[in-house]
Amino acid sequence: MVRIATVTIKHYPSGKWFVSLLLKSDQPFNSKFPKVDCEVGFDLNTENFLTQSDGKVVSSPRYYRTIKDKLAKEQRILSRRQRRAKKEGRPLKTSKNYQKQKLIVAKLHEKVRNQRTDFLHKISIALIKNHDLVVAENLKSKNMLKNHALAMSISDVGWRTLLTFLEYKAPKYGRTFVEVNPAYTTQTCNDCGFRMGTEETKKLTLKDRAWTCPKCKVFHIRDHNAAKNILDKGHTELAKTLTENSPIYK
Ligand SMILES: [Zn+2]
Repeated sequence: MVRIATVTIKHYPSGKWFVSLLLKSDQPFNSKFPKVDCEVGFDLNTENFLTQSDGKVVSSPRYYRTIKDKLAKEQRILSRRQRRAKKEGRPLKTSKNYQKQKLIVAKLHEKVRNQRTDFLHKISIALIKNHDLVVAENLKSKNMLKNHALAMSISDVGWRTLLTFLEYKAPKYGRTFVEVNPAYTTQTCNDCGFRMGTEETKKLTLKDRAWTCPKCKVFHIRDHNAAKNILDKGHTELAKTLTENSPIYK
């Protein structure tokens, strides 16, 4: 039997109404995905959206860039109308042109938000469906906020939201999702374990997209190598004794 637990009605600034129903049932709504004997780790980077340990690359969504100029233009019109109303002593609530423009801006914001959410749902469900184990780097330790451009693009592409989606989708579909500390995942050779920056070698910089390990001479695509290290770290994490704070979702 399915019961309706709660009904939520939302009115968005774009003028749209949303009704959501929370349903309850004794039977689970989602059946678990069948085992696929496949695992994946992925590296988040600015060159593309993410790089997987199997070498697959997901490019960054373009929606934001294309819509950004349009948004800036409409927002300029909005503030112009706001200034004019103020100058003429009209309250914003009753100034028609201002309200009309406010709706245009709200609709654009909603469009970007919807496109981003759609993209992140598609990526996360594909990762969960195609792999029994998914491992990602934990963004808290990534320490990228030092670099402003990088920090901007984090909020832009919604990596944090992607991780949240994986956290709840893994248990829902019978998969395991692990978050690991990304320290040294870029600098370590996945083949022999040599770490760049040690034994008088230079650390790789953001510009080094590909490199050859000075120790074992294996050629690496930087982000692909990092993704493989992230998957390995996931296994290490899984081998530890499980506690309440383990970054494991299953
Ligand atoms: Zn090596």
